Amino acid sequence: MQQAPEYLWIGCSDSRVPANQIVNLPPGEVFVHRNIANVVVHSDLNCLSVIQFAVEVLKVKHIIVCGHYGCGGVKAAMENQEHGLIDNWLHHIKDVSRFNAEKLKGLDPDKEFDLLCELNVIEQAKNVCNTTVVKKAWKEGAELSIHGWIYNIENGILKDLDLCVTSDKQLKKNYENA
Ligand SMILES: [Zn+2]
Repeated sequence: MQQAPEYLWIGCSDSRVPANQIVNLPPGEVFVHRNIANVVVHSDLNCLSVIQFAVEVLKVKHIIVCGHYGCGGVKAAMENQEHGLIDNWLHHIKDVSRFNAEKLKGLDPDKEFDLLCELNVIEQAKNVCNTTVVKKAWKEGAELSIHGWIYNIENGILKDLDLCVTSDKQLKKNYENA
């Protein structure tokens, strides 16, 4: 009769990574936002509205940012080729690459691609933690955890990137560890 999901899924638009099938949950159990390369930008009213509705109205207990290996958006951001309009969006991933230049330096291209897919999840999960909506919820004592996961489309394994944040206080330490 009405939805009462406990989870908000922020994932990639890629047709191979559908939220419900990956976590094996039926309709009604996951609130979903997807965009190219699961990016969370502080000025994206679409994504922020989804987070606000999920947290304040549906009162979800978990927000999962789930990326995937082999992500075309991440791959495109690594190249110097022009792709038109989408390059503006992919710039957010180029930023992730720039923030983590030291970690990515010297890796072979496949490893670099995999690592950037993971780092992108961690960075976007951090962005979720820093939204005014999530900060306000934590301040008010809401039970809300933010997670970073990555899915492998080759073997179907879903990996937790060990970034679980349940309060503003934990963010810095857990982000650095991840
Ligand atoms: Zn993708």
